[in-house]
Amino acid sequence: MTARTFHRVLVTGGAGFLGSHLCERFLAEGCEVLCFDNLLTGRMDNIAPLLGHERFSFEHYDVTNHLYVAGPLDAVLHFASPASPADFERLPIQILKVGSLGTHKALGLAKAKGARFLLASTSECYGDPEVNPQPESYWGHVNPIGIRGVYDEAKRFAEAMTMAYHRHHGVDVRIVRIFNTFGPRMQLHDGRAIPNFLCQAIRGEPLTVFGDGSQTRSFCYVDDLIEGIWRLLGSEHVGPMNIGNPEEMSLLQMARAILAVAGSSSEIVFRGLPPDDPKVRRPDITLARQVLDWEPRVAVEDGLRRTHAWFEKALSEAGRAP
Ligand code: UDP
Repeated sequence: MTARTFHRVLVTGGAGFLGSHLCERFLAEGCEVLCFDNLLTGRMDNIAPLLGHERFSFEHYDVTNHLYVAGPLDAVLHFASPASPADFERLPIQILKVGSLGTHKALGLAKAKGARFLLASTSECYGDPEVNPQPESYWGHVNPIGIRGVYDEAKRFAEAMTMAYHRHHGVDVRIVRIFNTFGPRMQLHDGRAIPNFLCQAIRGEPLTVFGDGSQTRSFCYVDDLIEGIWRLLGSEHVGPMNIGNPEEMSLLQMARAILAVAGSSSEIVFRGLPPDDPKVRRPDITLARQVLDWEPRVAVEDGLRRTHAWFEKALSEAGRAP
């Protein structure tokens, strides 16, 4: 860590996909880690290996309520939120609450403790973008009343709240805009493209590509994302900062890549495109390169191989569960 050392940190949503990887990284760096999660979409399985660690503690808690932590804190990382498009229809109010009330509570805690605050924001702030790739200076093209609006607007509000606490209260803040990320510990059935395609390929079922599959995304392996977040937290740059893989591909290409990695002969079938589904998504990472000397190291295909191995194991374990 360059600028300052983080001895004791809180990760909200610490039992989620990204949160659990973050907890693991902070423990490896020698920090004491407090993990809060209400397990709405997070899972105890994700943090099971960490529970016995002497510097790790877990609290089953809904962070939209007042946050109380005894003792000092050096950083608060706000990662709690359902994040799959399937959740946008299933959990709209919870998403709006954790992005707004949860961010407010987490900022209040950071202010009280004099801790650095890092907000997990998202490329969804750019909506269905009219510029590609998207630099941080782009304000976005979001439908506030659409199905995705609950997530997009909650995160945009969270960014506004974070900047208000920074400007008005002098809280030391960082904002990361996270693009599509994949890797071990994604929920098997959260409805996102990579988990869906992997499960379908492993089970020999058809891969469901939405629309004609020409829409693009840019997929970053989780280890690279965590490295970028770690560097941003230790930097003196407030952000927002894009962290993602600039390698853009169509969803049809992704489906084919997964068939190849899985050695699967499943067919590809086409299904309706969900409303407001962004047509393109690609981060401009000039800023991350300049300020953090960061760029992804793991090629998509390598990341898919690692993720496929984890999914195979997780699916077979799920199959054996009572
Ligand atoms: N998608 C798909 N098949 C699926 C699930 C998703 O073709 O079974 C598409 C989805 O319509 C979108 C892209 O894959 O265009 C990425 O979707 P995902 O849910 O992973 O994340 P998003 O980037 O849309 O938040």
